[in-house]
Amino acid sequence: MTTDIRYRVVIRCPKCGEKYILRGRMKENGEYETGFKRCVCGNETDLKVEATPE
Ligand SMILES: [Zn+2]
Repeated sequence: MTTDIRYRVVIRCPKCGEKYILRGRMKENGEYETGFKRCVCGNETDLKVEATPE
């Protein structure tokens, strides 16, 4: 079974206020595959992620 639903993923960094809008899909572990690595401020763990199906 493949879940090929594309999501619009909004990642917000509470440390510097930066916001990223990406596209991705959900992985089997429930995380979103967007290619996002880290915020420009270096924060890569304390991020708010919201996703809506496209
Ligand atoms: Zn940041």
